[in-house]
Parts: sequence; C-alpha cells; structure tokens
Amino acid sequence: TPSITVVGAGLAGSEAALAAAKLGVQVHLYEMRPIKMTPAHRSGNFAELVCSNSLGGQGDLQAKGLLQSEMRAVGSAILESADASRLPAGGALAVEREGFSERITGAVRNHPLITVHGEEVTELPTGPCVIATGPLTAEALSGELARLTGDEQLAFYDAAAPVIAFESINMDIVFRAGRYEQSADYLNCPMNQEQYEAFYTALEQARSHTPHDWEKLEFFEGCMPIEEIARRGKDTPRYGPMKPRGLTDPRTGRWPYAAAQLRQEDQEGRMWSLVGFQTGLKWGDQKAVVQLIPGLENAEIIRYGVMHRNTYLNAPKVLEASLELKMRSQTFVAGVLAGTEGYLESAATGWLAGTNAARAALGLSLIVPPQESMLGGLTRYLASANPKNYQPMNVNWALVPELPVPEGRKKWGKREKRPVLYRRGLSAFMDWAQGEGLEVTPPPVPDEEPAEP
Ligand code: FAD
Repeated sequence: TPSITVVGAGLAGSEAALAAAKLGVQVHLYEMRPIKMTPAHRSGNFAELVCSNSLGGQGDLQAKGLLQSEMRAVGSAILESADASRLPAGGALAVEREGFSERITGAVRNHPLITVHGEEVTELPTGPCVIATGPLTAEALSGELARLTGDEQLAFYDAAAPVIAFESINMDIVFRAGRYEQSADYLNCPMNQEQYEAFYTALEQARSHTPHDWEKLEFFEGCMPIEEIARRGKDTPRYGPMKPRGLTDPRTGRWPYAAAQLRQEDQEGRMWSLVGFQTGLKWGDQKAVVQLIPGLENAEIIRYGVMHRNTYLNAPKVLEASLELKMRSQTFVAGVLAGTEGYLESAATGWLAGTNAARAALGLSLIVPPQESMLGGLTRYLASANPKNYQPMNVNWALVPELPVPEGRKKWGKREKRPVLYRRGLSAFMDWAQGEGLEVTPPPVPDEEPAEP
C-alpha cells in the first residue's frame, strides 16, 4: 500500500492522518508527547486544546462558520469530534476538551491504516509527508526546516499588529502616500496634537496581557510592542512608528503632528496592517485604542495584534496553495507552522495537507479548494500574501472574493451580505469536492439566529 508520514498529532496532524487514511493510504504518525512535552500541552492526548475550548463562532454570519460547514461536508474528524462533545456556548462551537481530544485519539489509534510512533522527529521524513508540529515545534526539526527554507523564512516569535478591513477605513480622512517621494503604497492616518494626546493617554492606560512564564517577552527593536514604546515617553511613538516626516496631507498641504500608517497585506488590498503597532493589549482595549486613530473610528479589526512565542513559516515565500513546500516536493505543511492561526484553521489545513500527501502517494494530482470557499481563500492567501513581516492569519471574510453591490444600492449590510457569501462559498466547495471525487455530505443548514446559551 502507498504510505505517507505525518509529524505531530495536534489539531492539524490528527486531521491530516485521518484524511489520508480515508483515501486508503498507510499513515505513519509521529508524536513526541508525552515522552517530550511542549511548554503549553498538558497531556499525551492528540488534538489537545491548549487554551480556550472554542472552535469559533458558528452560523452563516461567521467566517469560521463557513469553514466549519466546509469541513463537515468532507467528513472532518475534528468537526465530528467537536459536534459530539459540544457544550452550550451561544453562537460558538465550544467543546468539552477532554472528551474532544479523547475521541480524536481513539479514532487515530484505532484506525487500521494508521501506525502511531511515540517519538520526536529530528529530520524531515523522506517520501510524501505532512509536517504539522505546531507553534511549539521541537528544536531539532525547526532547525532542519530553517536550513531547508532559509533562516529568515522561519519565525519563532509572533509580534503581530492589528489588521483592519479596508471597507471600514474612512478615506475622507485617511490619505494614500509614501514618505517624501516614495511610491504611494501606504494609507496614512493624520493626527493633530490633541488627537495624538488622547490616543497616547488611552494607550498608556490600556491594560496589557500578562505574559505566561514560558513566553517571557524579550523585546528587540523592530518588534517592540507599541505599548512598550509608549512607556518610554510621550513623544517616543511620534519619533518611532508614528513619525509624520515626509507625509504631506493633501487636505492641509502639510505634515501632520503624528501619523499612523497602514500597509497592504493581501493582493486585492482588502486587509491593511498598522505598521509598527505590534501589541499584546487585550482585545477590548486594543479596539478602543485603534478606534481613536483618525480615520479608523469604525475600524473592523480582522486580526488582533498578539505577542507570543510561535514557530511559523513565511508562507508566501515557501508554500504553494496546495500546502506543498516550494523547495521540497511531496512535503506538505499544515497548522500554525504553515502560517495559519487558530484551532479550526489548523485542522482545516491539516485536512488539505493530508489529502494532498495521500494523493501524491497515490500518483494523483494535487488539489486546491475554490477561492470562494473559506479554505480555498485561506490557502490562496498563504501562498500569495505580502511576505514582508508575514504574520499568521485567521479566516475572515476578506479572504474570499468581494460580492458586487446589488443594483440601485450603495452598499451591503453585513447581516445581508454574509449569508450570501456563506451560501456561495459552501456550494462552490461542495461542487469542487464532488468534482475531485471526494466523499461529500451536505452539512446542516445554520439556524437563522445563533442558538441561545
Ligand atoms: P499543535 O496542536 O500544537 O500540534 C503540534 C504537535 O506536534 C504537538 O502535539 C507536539 O507535541 C508535536 N510535535 C512538535 N514537534 C515535534 C517533533 N519534532 N516530533 C514529533 N512531534 C512533535 N488557537 C485558538 O483557536 N484558540 C486558542 O485559545 C488558542 N490558544 C493558544 C495558546 C497558546 C499558548 C498557543 C501556543 C497557541 C494557541 N492557539 C489558539 C493557536 C493554535 O490554534 C494552536 O496552537 C493549535 O493547537 C495549533 O495546531 P497545530 O496542529 O498547528 O499544532
């Protein structure tokens, strides 16, 4: 029988192993726990949830809801376990964590085509394989990955700035320009002194996440959080990431007192990150501070800033949308290591990587879900995002193509547009999966309103 190797039995690796076995290939799955633990895991169970017990919001208004439905449609083991161990949690898919990971562990261990090896992998396997060793990949293997992809393509630390949806930016205030005569690649939010002072006060007062022991923050210039920059003095941000020099505001003809800049993150320009605003602020505070920036008063934050230890590849430099490594054929990467963020995203990329590794072993062509689907949108983003300061990404609606505004209307309402995007994405995904000869079961239709807790 054709065989593949999967390294790591977390959210991504467990799903990858079961997806590959479903296609009839033999799977050798390597997991180092409990012999060698990570700083975040507590058990030897597979697909352990290291922090919250939620796999995200559900229903047709949520990007995660669409991804959940796509995964149910192709028989994802992680979704099956989640549905079987779910707890009431309003509009979220929350699970009883022990039951959830015990179910997955049982499904993997009892599968006749899967052989589990309880050991640490220190070298990249030969033949078709999936590397899914997560944000806390053991050192020897991350060293191998860095050697293969080039040192600068593997990060060990996630110092991410918030990412804002373009449609929520007020372009009556924000202007497009580069510093001095540089090309106009940035969106600039001009601040006068009063606005800067109000922003600074809010930033100073915002509470910071208390870092865990194991991720003691070592700040080096270049990824210092904005709240730490602010702690060094009132004018420090204004001489650092918020410097206004060379940014002529076309509405005044002058440089503002301070400015926040946004840099484009995706090819279509629907996601913009705040330059130099990496932050560990709590999400509520983060939103309040960001919305004090002129032009961002209604900002929709697609991805919040975070500061934590994280091992991940610079996906757009090293990955194809099939999740295959550009520099090593038949080697697939999934989960956080592949540049995604979140339990659900990890499992979903695990499914695709496992499916493609199995297809490689069977001599079949590799497949990529359609761009209208959430999984297709995510893996295409991984392969095509801006590689400069690449940060791991959660699923969100800006990953799928925009919908034209209905005739005679100025814009869509959110609650109106999202269910349309949901139906378009799910049907594209199911047609695609069927066309590729995968087993497809229509998932349940989401409730109109999320269930009450
Ligand atoms: P993991 O689930 O970590 O799986 C990787 C597996 O590989 C582990 O079992 C590990 O033991 C094993 N392994 C590592 N190296 C080797 C090796 N060399 N040989 C053999 N096995 C190896 N996401 C959320 O959606 N919600 C949250 O609340 C959340 N909280 C998080 C908290 C922390 C502290 C961290 C670090 C991340 C958090 N994440 C959260 C992000 C992410 O969704 C999870 O880390 C998720 O578990 C990632 O899935 P994965 O499959 O990529 O990695």
